Amino acid sequence: MSLFVAEGLVKRFDALLATDHVSFSVEPGQLHALIGPNGAGKSTLVNQISGLLQPDAGRLLLDGQDITRLPPHARVAAGLSRCFQVTSVFKGQTVLDNLLLAVQAHAGSSFHFLRRRAAEAALQDQALALAARTGLAEVLAVPAGELPHGAQRKLDVALAIAARPKLLLLDEPMAGMGPAESAEMVTLIGALRREMAILLIEHDMDAVFKLADRITVLVYGKVLVSGSADEIRGHPQVQAVYLGT
Ligand code: ADP
Ligand code: MG
Repeated sequence: MSLFVAEGLVKRFDALLATDHVSFSVEPGQLHALIGPNGAGKSTLVNQISGLLQPDAGRLLLDGQDITRLPPHARVAAGLSRCFQVTSVFKGQTVLDNLLLAVQAHAGSSFHFLRRRAAEAALQDQALALAARTGLAEVLAVPAGELPHGAQRKLDVALAIAARPKLLLLDEPMAGMGPAESAEMVTLIGALRREMAILLIEHDMDAVFKLADRITVLVYGKVLVSGSADEIRGHPQVQAVYLGT
């Protein structure tokens, strides 16, 4: 069974069909990339998946559960976590405080049985583990707003995975990065894909071909083709429409 299924998603803005019966699925343990030229409908699609936009038609299944009508926070609880294109951190707070808040928000009642000091220590351990996984261990005391761009995006990812998602949505995680920061983000995403399924929206084709198991190409709101990275690379229409070769 697919981990995630989008079925016939339609979103209309007045006369414009921003997503026109879009269907694709993400398999467990896979990184699925969504590509397409500017205005293809990628962000509109991601917003319907995370619950910021309600589709006009179609449905969304996560692990067999119909999440089409769930509000965003309930989708996070169901296992779908999103890293925003616009950074969502508390800029005045340190990296550690941002991580602690995220860990605490998703801990639920799991530390319920512990005494307060023990619970705080457990949260602290989780926050530090999250920092280590995302390459933020050296900047724990830095206010989030003072981090370089690349580290802010790592913090975004750290906050998204604090929810322990089954499916992580990444909307252009490399946007605005130089080559060195992009390479670090590719390494981070490459490590995360071993632990969770990922839906990656990304312009950087080198990164997409390095990371993706499967790729769906969106053009003018429609799926042009879905296939393995090799199938997409060799697809003549994809090369013509998207890669400009
Ligand atoms: P992408 O992320 O692939 O660049 P978008 O999903 O942002 O594409 O946009 C798809 C199309 O829908 C574009 O033509 C865009 O102008 C239009 N669009 C996106 N959001 C809105 C909105 N809220 N109202 C009207 N049109 C919109
Ligand atoms: Mg977009």
